[in-house]
Amino acid sequence: MNAQSSRRRAPITYTLRGRLYINLTSRCWLRCRFCPKFDGRWEIDGASLRLTRREEPSVVEVLAAIDAAGPYREVVFCGFGEPTLRLDAVLVLGRTLKRRHLQVRLNTDGLANLRHQRDITPDLAGAIDTVSISLNAQDERTYVRHCLPPEPGAYPALLDFAARAVRHVPTVTLSAIEGLDDVDVPACRHIATAIGAGFRARLLDRVG
Ligand code: SF4
Repeated sequence: MNAQSSRRRAPITYTLRGRLYINLTSRCWLRCRFCPKFDGRWEIDGASLRLTRREEPSVVEVLAAIDAAGPYREVVFCGFGEPTLRLDAVLVLGRTLKRRHLQVRLNTDGLANLRHQRDITPDLAGAIDTVSISLNAQDERTYVRHCLPPEPGAYPALLDFAARAVRHVPTVTLSAIEGLDDVDVPACRHIATAIGAGFRARLLDRVG
């Protein structure tokens, strides 16, 4: 047995502050300098969330894990990866959970429209109640420095995604991390307010 096959599979769900989190993928488009996974830190609540692509759970497996976890007031798509890299699964699961009258939140990099080369925000209607978007910086230069997007245009694409999401999703919140070099958190809050979104200042290394 090799090291890969002997490693415990990461949990499909985990809980934080009374909410149920769904660990759909560990893949990301960004390579944020502040992300703990690039320092080998994948643990939340004592369990590693690291998933290989082959280990990513199916929709059926996620629903079974949610059923096994019991009742929760909110289900959140968030792990050490970008949920919208599995957009189809997010939408199917979101609609299913909404039919069960659960609150559903998506934590995202806000780059799905750029990746998919189309506006996916109308698809979120009826599947997602809250979209939490990592704005991370008040301008493109600072964003690129901290998040290392793989292609140009990520920051304006993120802003456009957020403005469109406001039209289709009941609650949209932008976030930025306190204490990162040159990140102006009040300016980030101003950007959120200007597009009609909420804002949350986050703490470094605090997931969720
Ligand atoms: S988007 Fe999130 S999970 Fe991905 S590298 Fe950045 S901080 Fe880490």
